[in-house]
Amino acid sequence: MVQFIKAQLDIKPRIAKKPRVLIDLDGVVRDFIGSLVRAYKKQYPHHEILPINSRRLEDFFPIGSDIYKFTEPGAISKIIENAPAYPGSLEALKEWSEEFDIIIVSAQPEMSRSSTFVWVGKNGVPTNEVHITYDKSAIDGIALLDDFVDNLQEFKQTNRLAVCLDQPWNQEWNGPRVKSVSEFFQFIYSIIHENKEGKIEDKFLT
Ligand SMILES: [Mg+2]
Repeated sequence: MVQFIKAQLDIKPRIAKKPRVLIDLDGVVRDFIGSLVRAYKKQYPHHEILPINSRRLEDFFPIGSDIYKFTEPGAISKIIENAPAYPGSLEALKEWSEEFDIIIVSAQPEMSRSSTFVWVGKNGVPTNEVHITYDKSAIDGIALLDDFVDNLQEFKQTNRLAVCLDQPWNQEWNGPRVKSVSEFFQFIYSIIHENKEGKIEDKFLT
């Protein structure tokens, strides 16, 4: 019955306060590099791409700085919208969204902002809050999962837990490190539940 369905949609759910955790997209949930490589290979099928272990993309693609043409307006949208998720990452977000409020924090230039929102919707990312920002440490949340050392350092300086998603380009980070989104949630869940206060202790912030 139509009326019944409408009523269901209008029901305000009981507010359950969950800890807020900040999750980066590229290099954590979304495989931007994989999508870039795929687009590149379409154009240069015989080029050999070196293993990417820094943010200096020009060092790994045979066309050098011309690789940035792939990230210009007109080209970047498709690369972003069609990027695959890392295996298991979306599933982990869905599973843990019962326990945590998932807050997406993604640093994007203006030209890739709308395609990032498209990607979030297209992939059913379980979040009510998406921040496109270079200033992730200004966002409220108990912990950040990110692959970029500068972001992790800034966040750590606010005395909160900064956790690195292991990638070849962030090996210099010497704080907490996980191999997957799922491992990140298990890590912070265990910290919270070992602490009766429900807060993260100082010893985990170093
Ligand atoms: Mg990232």
